[in-house]
Amino acid sequence: MTLPVVNPATEEVVAELTAGSVQDIELAVSAARSAFDGWSDVPPLERGNYMARLGEAMRHRSADLARAITDELGAPAALALRTHVTYPLSKFELYAQLAETIAWEEQVGNSTVVRAPVGVVGAITPWNFPLNQAVDKVAAALLAGCPVVLKPSELTPTSALAFADAAEEIGLPAGVLNVVNGIGGSVGDALVRHPYVDMVSFTGSTSIGKQIAAVAAARVARVGLELGGKSAAILLDDADLDGAVTAVVRSCFLNSGQVCTALTRLLAPRSRYAEVVERARALAEAYTVGDPNDDVDLGPLVSAGQRDRVRRYIEQGLAEGARLVAGGPNAPPGLARGYYVRPTVFADVTSRMRIAQDEIFGPVLAVLAYDDEGEAVRIANDSPYGLSGGIWSADVGRACRLARRIRTGTVKVNGASGEAVPFGGFKESGLGREHGRYGVEAFVELQTINRPAAR
Ligand code: NAD
Repeated sequence: MTLPVVNPATEEVVAELTAGSVQDIELAVSAARSAFDGWSDVPPLERGNYMARLGEAMRHRSADLARAITDELGAPAALALRTHVTYPLSKFELYAQLAETIAWEEQVGNSTVVRAPVGVVGAITPWNFPLNQAVDKVAAALLAGCPVVLKPSELTPTSALAFADAAEEIGLPAGVLNVVNGIGGSVGDALVRHPYVDMVSFTGSTSIGKQIAAVAAARVARVGLELGGKSAAILLDDADLDGAVTAVVRSCFLNSGQVCTALTRLLAPRSRYAEVVERARALAEAYTVGDPNDDVDLGPLVSAGQRDRVRRYIEQGLAEGARLVAGGPNAPPGLARGYYVRPTVFADVTSRMRIAQDEIFGPVLAVLAYDDEGEAVRIANDSPYGLSGGIWSADVGRACRLARRIRTGTVKVNGASGEAVPFGGFKESGLGREHGRYGVEAFVELQTINRPAAR
């Protein structure tokens, strides 16, 4: 069986990859299981050294990787290189350094508490950031001492193959890192069900995440889940409006809106609502959409299915009575071919509308009005998701106080980002944390070894 890779800008098949099978999962998991004793015995500093070399080998492939991501995902070339390739590959260095700083074991009285690897990890990743999601799983799990079987999304299977090539190039021991491409419902499912897989680390939709958690629960396998989001940005009345709306629109439309942390709900004080809507409209209309090999802001969405889903949501917004101020359900002018969607802004959205509740995963911004801070917090938290959020204010202290009332894994004040900080969701946005030290800790079991106290 083959996996056709469709270029979403041209709708043409640009590559045919061999699809993995359930049998390949069997082979890969067995190889990982056989590699476990040896790999978990490699001292952490040496494992860190491997991560530095794996990152280096991946970096040598940067130009090819960026091209592959433009071809399979439709990411504009500059975004592909900067955000999809250079940024995630830089994280290998972070994981290499963590080898030196993590307390792999510590003394508690007469006991030693060991951070032992959880075992064989099945890593399943989505298409929206094919490398980034894989790096945070692969590098953290390998550093923790766990062999990995990586199953990338069938929509973006090309870039993940670089992990296997790079691992071979640096002489990573056989079986430590295995990549099996294939369809989620069969190959992914076989990985989740395999009794030798001690932990499933999954990034993807909430609906599949729930299924995976249920399957894993039957044998008490560990799960890490990074799922969907519907993140809110609260503009307080004293915020620099231009800067804030620009940042929110950019977050919402990045990667054609296919970002789990996208700020897709813009909450504006009623006193400044008209100004906010006007600014968002002007920004959306200035976005250029087109061939990702040209100098454009937005490329196509990943697939015809994703494009149709997003357009249906835009139609639903109209049917629900939201006011369309930019974009709309039709193809952008001159782009009949390719899976394009117009950057879209809805005003007069209320929290009960589907476009304010569901993760659309496309360039669609909903602008909602609030009367006071309490109402802003209520609307922000009125979501089954809890992944990310933002608050803009001239008073950073005020924004930070308010942030503690927002039920999401991350809150960005005035757009600030952090380094090596935990990433993950409250509520239906997931279980556990990834990234940096916290991400490595997700792949360890705490083992207590009690030594008889000296007399
Ligand atoms: P998806 O759930 O459809 O697929 C994700 C992966 O799971 C793919 O590799 C797929 O092949 C596999 N899969 C599908 N069915 C499976 C099954 N029954 N058993 C095992 N594996 C299976 O998600 P997607 O459409 O690829 O990605 C988009 C979603 O990912 C969005 O909801 C987005 O919010 C989420 N996401 C979350 C984060 C995060 O860190 N929280 C990051 C990126 C994307």
